[in-house]
Amino acid sequence: MLAAVLYADFDPRRGYAISRDEVASRKVREGSSVWRNPRLRLEERDIPKPRGREVLIRVKAVGICGSDIHMVESDSEGYMLYPGLTRLPVVLGHEFSGIVEEVGGGVRSVKPGDMVTSEEMLWCGECLICRSIDVNHCTRLNDPGDLEFGELGFTHDGAMAEYVVVHEKYLWSINSLLDRYRSEDRVFEAGSLVEPASVAYRAIFNRAGGFDPGSYVAVWGAGPIGLSAIALAKTAGASRVIAFEVSSIRIELARSMGADYVFNPIELERMGVQPWEKIIEVTDGWGVDLHVEASGVPELLTQMERSLAIGGKIAWIGRAPRSVSMYPEIFQVRRGQIYGSQGHSGWGIFRNVIRLMSSGSIDTTKMITSRFRLSEIFKAFERARQRVDGKITLKP
Ligand SMILES: [Zn+2]
Ligand SMILES: [Zn+2]
Repeated sequence: MLAAVLYADFDPRRGYAISRDEVASRKVREGSSVWRNPRLRLEERDIPKPRGREVLIRVKAVGICGSDIHMVESDSEGYMLYPGLTRLPVVLGHEFSGIVEEVGGGVRSVKPGDMVTSEEMLWCGECLICRSIDVNHCTRLNDPGDLEFGELGFTHDGAMAEYVVVHEKYLWSINSLLDRYRSEDRVFEAGSLVEPASVAYRAIFNRAGGFDPGSYVAVWGAGPIGLSAIALAKTAGASRVIAFEVSSIRIELARSMGADYVFNPIELERMGVQPWEKIIEVTDGWGVDLHVEASGVPELLTQMERSLAIGGKIAWIGRAPRSVSMYPEIFQVRRGQIYGSQGHSGWGIFRNVIRLMSSGSIDTTKMITSRFRLSEIFKAFERARQRVDGKITLKP
């Protein structure tokens, strides 16, 4: 089978305190401090054989995520840009859907022919954190000494291949999407967008506890997660959704997902207006009840603080490896709260996102603006680097 495999040199940066487990397992916590000269190769591999509770899936659609681009890109010293958990070489790809081809002897929940998508977080369900707090923070997933668990497409071979093997406990049926989307091709496209939508769902409803219908919501950044957040906020009853985005294609997509106002911060700056002032203007002085940070620009915190309604919340999804200043006073006098959010697993999040898609309550498929065959992956990554798309989807 054809597979897109990422290779890099294991060359820990001076100053990175690498553990003995990381050296032995090559499952490292901070990819950007260890992997040098990343190179993507398209190669022919044997089709894996599912064992026990594993499922072999024929991949039908797989999205290119910002993390995939950052894994392929490197800094001036040649180090991979992606700062998270990684074990190379690895087949990339974690936003996907496909059809069950073959199941191991112990599989009970799916059968050949089922259409499925998968979680990316390969949590254990047995460690103390999984049992008592949250599978998205599984200690075995993050443990460099534990090769059983990790992240699909980062530490375990992912879906930018004709086939992928996943344990059945991470899979969700998308058969119900056929009622809505009619063609299988569209079902698989929609199925490949369940993962990013689940990241947004988790932040808004699971971590931040949602909002009352009628609330005002601001979404910062209209990449696939921000776009999903706009669609989710609208269907959950936000009366005004205000989005901020700089790319013109994503501005259009934000509107098509239901944003009532979309502002380009660069244009605002040219006019001498700050984003928070615009929010105050379009909310008649109230501010917003929920901010969703999906841009990866933590400096925007100041803008959120200044436009936070009394009783307002901030759901934090975007990632950036730097500190910014915070004005805690705001969180007292405006009765505010900030919620960090990571992952997408647990609490029926995937189930609920699939239900919202199959009922037509959200339709995020409009964000797919480019499609490539898996064999054209270099062309697809070249285009991804230009950042002119909503979502680029590969079809093996
Ligand atoms: Zn992703
Ligand atoms: Zn665990």
